Amino acid sequence: MAEFDHPGRVLRLQELMGDAGVGATLLSVGADLPYFTGYEAMPTERLTMLVVPVVGDPILFIPKLEAPRVGAIQFEMVSWGETEDPIALVAKAVSDSDRILIGDHAWSVFLIGLQAELPDASWAPASTITRELRIRKEPAEIEALRSAAHGVDRALARVPSEVNFAGRTESDVSRDLQRMTVEEGHEVAAFAIVASGPNGASPHHEPGQRVISQGDLVICDFGGRYRGYFSDVTRTFSVGEPSAEQTEVHSVVAAANAAGHAAVGPGVPCQEIDRVARQVIDDAGYGDFFIHRTGHGIGLETHEHPYLVEGNDLLLEPGMTFSIEPGIYLPDRLGVRIEDISACTDDGIDDLNQADRGLVVVG
Ligand code: ZN
Ligand code: ZN
Ligand code: ZN
Repeated sequence: MAEFDHPGRVLRLQELMGDAGVGATLLSVGADLPYFTGYEAMPTERLTMLVVPVVGDPILFIPKLEAPRVGAIQFEMVSWGETEDPIALVAKAVSDSDRILIGDHAWSVFLIGLQAELPDASWAPASTITRELRIRKEPAEIEALRSAAHGVDRALARVPSEVNFAGRTESDVSRDLQRMTVEEGHEVAAFAIVASGPNGASPHHEPGQRVISQGDLVICDFGGRYRGYFSDVTRTFSVGEPSAEQTEVHSVVAAANAAGHAAVGPGVPCQEIDRVARQVIDDAGYGDFFIHRTGHGIGLETHEHPYLVEGNDLLLEPGMTFSIEPGIYLPDRLGVRIEDISACTDDGIDDLNQADRGLVVVG
């Protein structure tokens, strides 16, 4: 992620910290650390922590054996040995701060240790401030997200000719999708939900041993990490020719998806995208069966701000990136979801995924 201006991002963070009366921000595992440094902490019992003081240079505390994997970094680094206490080192570095932010995904064992060393400090999640920066993507971030989206678009285009559904398990199809996600340029396939027939009624179904058969609708929701940024796409396939009901449910979801896209623009409240998509599904009589929000932000994490959900009156701004993913889930029978990633622009929407949203028949 060398193309990003990490020191510039830290300066903007320090400005916001100053405005909020925050003395230090501590970043460990999670996406904030790579956002500000380009380095991602190993999620282990050995503490990696970036200390960002409100004024002055950040210091990355890192286990001595992991220092070689950091590579070129534009910040001071302190490596601690196996017999040292990293909590004490970090506590000492922030001992003059009354108000401290800590990364949302930092392990509680580290936070509790720091709280014991710094009993007078007050604590808050780092996202209270870091989201202000991460929620609006820089042009290079949008291009990274577009590359990721195009990667899964290419995988989707291969599905009808390369993936057999009927007679195979959901797990088999999930493995195919993950393999193609990597073949199409992702570093790693992060997830591949395959929910067939009645399992489609569970939006986050864990693909299992159910054997897919003719007449099933199959929700395929998959994505991965591409140069640090995530893809996340969903298409619902029909194994054999769809029934009239399957075709109807799919067309309602497609219309809801299209309505969501049409509503996007700067100054539009996040909840408005949810409302317009939900209205289409309500009007068709399926309102009780759209059981999740319409979308989530995406970037260095698959789910991040902004959330397209009732009650979120945050206004969309150019550079915000998010999914639009309405669905209908009929218990014990079937499910349909259609999901794409888009960016809000100066005057509307930029669709990062380009894959066709129609109901595709597979074998
Ligand atoms: Zn989901
Ligand atoms: Zn998804
Ligand atoms: Zn999603």
